[in-house]
Amino acid sequence: MKDTLERIITHAGNVFGIACNTTQLVNEACRRHDLGPTAAAALGRALTGSLLLAALLKGRQSVQLIFEGNGPLGKIITEAGTAGWCRGYVKNPHADVPLKNGMIDVAAGIGKAGFLRVVKDIGLKEKYTGLVQLYTSEIGEDIAYYLTESEQTPSALNIGVHLLPDGTVASAGGYLIQSLPPADEATISYLENEMAALGPVTSLLAKGNTPSEILSKLFNSIPHKSTGSTELSFRCSCSMEKMDRAILSLSQEDLGYLLEKDESIEVQCDFCSEKYLFTKSHINEIKKNK
Ligand code: ZN
Repeated sequence: MKDTLERIITHAGNVFGIACNTTQLVNEACRRHDLGPTAAAALGRALTGSLLLAALLKGRQSVQLIFEGNGPLGKIITEAGTAGWCRGYVKNPHADVPLKNGMIDVAAGIGKAGFLRVVKDIGLKEKYTGLVQLYTSEIGEDIAYYLTESEQTPSALNIGVHLLPDGTVASAGGYLIQSLPPADEATISYLENEMAALGPVTSLLAKGNTPSEILSKLFNSIPHKSTGSTELSFRCSCSMEKMDRAILSLSQEDLGYLLEKDESIEVQCDFCSEKYLFTKSHINEIKKNK
């Protein structure tokens, strides 16, 4: 099944739901960054959360999430755009923590103390930044807390990543429900009960449910309709040209030092782990054009 994000809205038009399947793109992130199990679960949840937040934006807007806790994983940065792309990385991809009740302990990996920073690029000169303290460090609950506290839009989220013993991602995805103001308390409380009854989103995906089927199960007796879908993928915007600029930003002195030491320099993109090789002659060429 392709990774997709699907949306529905109630016939009354006041409550909407967004759900996505991110199994393949989380597997791609694991492959690119060679993630250990704790990092795979944490980055997978953060990528899924970014895609759900990006789905609330318009046009070519994008959002960046930075989880900065005091746990062994270190900083986690993810980005996603309305068009369905996402990318991201974990500072310490091989850091691991013991299982908790047989489950991967994402909260211990991230650490209980720290911050979630949300940076939105909505096409203006200044980016919009929101900052909240980490709530449970489980990622989904932290994003819900951010939406409630910082954006004053109470939201319910369920995000999950289920790993097989060999480290591959069996299923990953999530959903988000929001009420447009004024908050429809009755519908939200009905949906929260349905969420609890439905169980983890990873089980629903593993049973073959599409994101829109999950939303239909959730909204159940509330009349609703589909409002579109977007294909999702792990996609980075890095390129040799962008890396040229990074090389050019080095001082002549640093460049000279690097070239004295080695015949070539390898530059790796943090977001996707793609490697770019700069030979001496290529660097001399870009230096000349500086
Ligand atoms: Zn990249």
